[in-house]
Amino acid sequence: MRQSALFTRTERVAPADEPSVNARLLQQAGYVDKLAAGIYTYLPLGLSVLKAIQNIVREEMLALGAQEILMPALNPKEVWAATGRWQDPGPVVMYQFKGHGQTEYGLGWTHEEIVTPMVKRFLHSYRDLPFSVFQIQDKFRNEPRAKSGLLRGREFSMKDLYSFHRDAADLDAFYDRVMMAYRRVYERCGLQAVVTEASGGAFAKYSHEFQVVTPYGEDTIFLCTGCAYAQNREISQYHAGDACPKCGQAFVEAKAIEVGNIFKLGTRFSEAFHLSYLDEQGKASPVLMGCYGIGPSRVMGAIAEIHHDEHGLRWPASVAPFHLHVLRLGSDPAVMKRADAVVQALEKAGVSVLYDDRDKVTAGEKFHDADLIGIPWRAVVSAKTGEAVELKARGSDALEQLTVPALLKKIHLGNLKP
Ligand code: ATP
Ligand code: MG
Repeated sequence: MRQSALFTRTERVAPADEPSVNARLLQQAGYVDKLAAGIYTYLPLGLSVLKAIQNIVREEMLALGAQEILMPALNPKEVWAATGRWQDPGPVVMYQFKGHGQTEYGLGWTHEEIVTPMVKRFLHSYRDLPFSVFQIQDKFRNEPRAKSGLLRGREFSMKDLYSFHRDAADLDAFYDRVMMAYRRVYERCGLQAVVTEASGGAFAKYSHEFQVVTPYGEDTIFLCTGCAYAQNREISQYHAGDACPKCGQAFVEAKAIEVGNIFKLGTRFSEAFHLSYLDEQGKASPVLMGCYGIGPSRVMGAIAEIHHDEHGLRWPASVAPFHLHVLRLGSDPAVMKRADAVVQALEKAGVSVLYDDRDKVTAGEKFHDADLIGIPWRAVVSAKTGEAVELKARGSDALEQLTVPALLKKIHLGNLKP
């Protein structure tokens, strides 16, 4: 993509009214645009990162055997009234309003009330179990404080997975597989997430949150310095300095961002919607359910919080909007020709390139923008580089002169990892 054609631009200064790092950097670098508190447009660069994260999540869900669906965000009151969550959604505030006449609607903030009656149509006997479905969709929550950029949206991207089982052993086994899939998701996104015990509702003692430790997190966890066992402070009987029950080392208190949460629901929703199955003897029993959430937009905000420096963003290659940022310095016709040829060769080899081909922009400004945008690798083509390009990883000072065939070889060998 030619940067001269990109309709967005970086800003000289970060927005003054944003307290969080992710909101400041993502807006300044042209990834997102803020419409109102907790409500963002994803611009071309930002949408590309969000989609990369969503695709990692999708791949890991499909690998579990889950099937992708898309449920409506607009929900009639009746399904929510059936579980009592229309009147009392708990800690979440649901957007609710009237349609035509007296018909009432709300915007979905989770989808147990939609998925449970939906699967009833298809689930009859033990032979239909187990199975799982997921969607990647925008959720809506009337969050009282939406001051943390993508970390707390009023409209935000969520992947929600729901699983259906005949007994607790089957639910437990699937739950453990989801936990492994979640670990892979965060690892692939360049995040170290700590599995943290949190309140589990009526069916299980604990749910499990995936927490990324950073001073800007809104959650507080007790984390064992020895074995990384962790509990959310909201449920915990521990205090900082207490001995870990698993290994005896001390707990420390840490701020963290909750990037995912998995939950054994048991029969809570299957009972509310009379979702049962017939076993081999023809006896009906309620189906056991699990639900599993990840917020891709919050993951994007968390990556920005973790992977940046004083100059700007530093995307892990797996989610970066482009693989390589080619900077053409100067408008000398020979340099222009060479830079065009470099980009063409790279794109032909399947490398995604942001090509800073802008005229009348100084070298200093191009370097500054490249650091702010944060693509993992930068390749400069200038009068000085001759037939070579000057390659540099974002966040490193080491420069490497490479001919185009040598650069392509490095890419083919998979050596272009920051
Ligand atoms: P929190 O305690 O941070 O409000 P939650 O526990 O209510 O979140 P869940 O209902 O467990 O969130 O939602 C599943 C996932 O969706 C969360 O782990 C998080 O990644 C994401 N998420 C939840 N609320 C938001 C939000 N307002 N903005 C962005 N992502 C969110
Ligand atoms: Mg949660």
